[in-house]
Amino acid sequence: MIKFEYIWLDGYQPTQSLRSKTKIEKSFSGKLEDLPMWSFDGSSTRQAPGGSSDCLLKPVFFVKDPQRKDAYLVMCEVLDASGKPHPSNGRATIEDDDNDFWFGFEQEYFLWNPASNKPLGFPDGGYPNPQGQYYCSVGTNNAFGREIVEEHLDVCIEAGLNVEGINAEVAAGQWEFQIFAKGAKEAGDQIWIARYLLERIGEKYGVSINWHCKPLGTLDWNGSGMHANFSNTLLRTAGNKVIYDKVCEAFRPVVKEHIDVYGADNHLRLTGLHETASIHDFSYGVSDRGASIRIPVATVERGWKGYLEDRRPNSAADPYKVAARIIKTVKSVAV
Ligand code: ADP
Ligand code: MN
Ligand code: MN
Ligand code: MN
Repeated sequence: MIKFEYIWLDGYQPTQSLRSKTKIEKSFSGKLEDLPMWSFDGSSTRQAPGGSSDCLLKPVFFVKDPQRKDAYLVMCEVLDASGKPHPSNGRATIEDDDNDFWFGFEQEYFLWNPASNKPLGFPDGGYPNPQGQYYCSVGTNNAFGREIVEEHLDVCIEAGLNVEGINAEVAAGQWEFQIFAKGAKEAGDQIWIARYLLERIGEKYGVSINWHCKPLGTLDWNGSGMHANFSNTLLRTAGNKVIYDKVCEAFRPVVKEHIDVYGADNHLRLTGLHETASIHDFSYGVSDRGASIRIPVATVERGWKGYLEDRRPNSAADPYKVAARIIKTVKSVAV
């Protein structure tokens, strides 16, 4: 018997969560198109009224499930009962997917103690030392929850996800993983499956994953981002600053359209402090971690051939929507 975990995004606003359930089949050809459609009760996920509750699950991407024997994780799009994409289905809104667009998402998150409602590493009733000692740290007083992070890295690799690295982040209990993929759908599928795997490992340890972009509010602690590094042939081969300026300038008139899909509550995070640019400004600069868009110094050193980093998307953003919006803006550039 083979287990298929059908995974989808629910209808909660402004931030959708992962849902899943297990389907047993006798055999599998190994081909996506042979995975059957399935259905679920949309009235329990804010995706349908109780009177006509059926929503459909359409498999769109799968990997081996590294945590179960003879099992797969199956990312699904949600369709309404008539077979049309459900309004909650961000993946279906990707109009102009393009594998010439490469994405490297840096997913930050907090490992969170549900009992104290604080990050791992925060003592009962108080605060640990201020930020400084935690980023890329080692040691019991600095890095909290490493076994979870390591296990996550291993299962991502085993599942065949394109995870490129992990690091401890600036706040106590805060971590990051990076995933690289070509095309908006592929990048989104991989990030969502990696998020799913992290949630499931958290269950094992009684630790929750806090995806909020500013879980410690206005205190002097970093928020969580999901920096979107991106390139297309134009950026990878440009060879001069003029083209980079043109691409960056294309983002200026559509700040609102980008912020709309860069994750809930981003005004709490994009303050101009903690390595962010203010949500009210738009800026770009070489090596500038206080800019909206950073031009990595390596891109300049290679003679203006490389990629850009949009630092504004936050940890809870939907990568399908972020990638789709970036493709749209970059494609609007006439060269
Ligand atoms: P930092 O923390 O310094 O911002 P990271 O090393 O965490 O940078 O992340 C850099 C990301 O950039 C990686 O996910 C990597 O895949 C991505 N990247 C590198 N080159 C390209 C490229 N040409 N196009 C898109 N993404 C890229
Ligand atoms: Mn990083
Ligand atoms: Mn980071
Ligand atoms: Mn970054």
